[in-house]
Amino acid sequence: MENCLFCKIAEGQVPAKIIYQDEDVVAFEDINPQAPHHILLIPRRHIASMSDLTLEDGPMLALLFITADRLAKKLGLGERGYRFVTNVGPDAGQAVFHLHFHLLGGRKFSWPPG
Ligand code: AMP
Ligand code: ZN
Repeated sequence: MENCLFCKIAEGQVPAKIIYQDEDVVAFEDINPQAPHHILLIPRRHIASMSDLTLEDGPMLALLFITADRLAKKLGLGERGYRFVTNVGPDAGQAVFHLHFHLLGGRKFSWPPG
């Protein structure tokens, strides 16, 4: 999609520290990390947010979640754990309207979140 920052990152038009990519999923470092490890995972195809998912996205989502867990284990977070979240809309503070999941790890997270 035109003028979508994360589409541009997925297409290599905007630079990012890409950690992993395949046909369906791209993972890269967040530019403003909120934890020692902060990686964003996105579908390569433009989907604005979790609100726009359909059942057909099931296999892609499974791949994305499994990739996140694999990356977390690679980063040494297998034992201590991590947080995996997506923001939808204004109350959650969604700033980029291309579906993305935050993989956060390397420190303790509070609950309930702020
Ligand atoms: P959200 O508030 O859930 O929409 O999160 C958007 C995230 O994208 C924030 O954590 C930003 O720091 C991150 N971000 C914005 N621009 C870039 C960029 N060019 N490269 C990597 N991460 C970015
Ligand atoms: Zn996009």
